[in-house]
Amino acid sequence: PASGSISTRRRRLGVMGGTFDPIHHGHLVAASEVAMQFDLDEVVFVPTGQPWQKSEKRVSPAEDRYLMTVIATAENPQFSVSRIDIDRGGPTYTNDTLRDLRTLNPGTELFFITGADALGQILTWRDAEELFSLAHFIGVTRPGHQLTDAGLPEGGVSLVEVPALAISSTDCRARVARGAPVWYLVPDGVVRYIDKRQLYRGA
Ligand code: ATP
Ligand code: MG
Repeated sequence: PASGSISTRRRRLGVMGGTFDPIHHGHLVAASEVAMQFDLDEVVFVPTGQPWQKSEKRVSPAEDRYLMTVIATAENPQFSVSRIDIDRGGPTYTNDTLRDLRTLNPGTELFFITGADALGQILTWRDAEELFSLAHFIGVTRPGHQLTDAGLPEGGVSLVEVPALAISSTDCRARVARGAPVWYLVPDGVVRYIDKRQLYRGA
């Protein structure tokens, strides 16, 4: 082999941010699909910090969301969970997440995976330039959300179609609140954790 043929490929790390209240199979399938299509070495799930107490929308305690994410990803050697956004405290801004991950993973290429619905909110014109310098952005399509409606800046975003999973955390919470099953929408261990901690009962 010619000299210089030794691979200098950089490690490729997917970053899946979310509230994960609770984590569900839509998140897991999206991460798995993007990992395959983009040849990622690992995907790190990053549960968001607790929003400030203005909450018109109530969010479960960070420790519960973190533990459900750990339970859901524990069996996959390619998946891990980071506490950085939870430990930073307060609401999460994607540029903080990516800056911290870059510091923790020098020489690693970051791929931020997000639903098409969330992309437009994250990539405001003001922030897009810095965000694009920190990571590649991958928008996953989910049922009911058209990418063309997201108001995305042109370029810098790759789009991936994930097998249509009409699963959302909102629907999972509503199901638990009315006593409907969430089996097979979330991993079995997450069903049991929701039950053990009595989450989403009084919604
Ligand atoms: P909620 O209903 O409370 O908004 P959610 O189901 O959207 O919750 P989040 O924790 O907000 O879950 O989502 C984390 C990330 O995963 C976001 O980028 C979101 O767009 C994406 N996502 C959520 N559901 C799916 C799904 N079924 N398929 C692919 N991606 C999804
Ligand atoms: Mg959402």
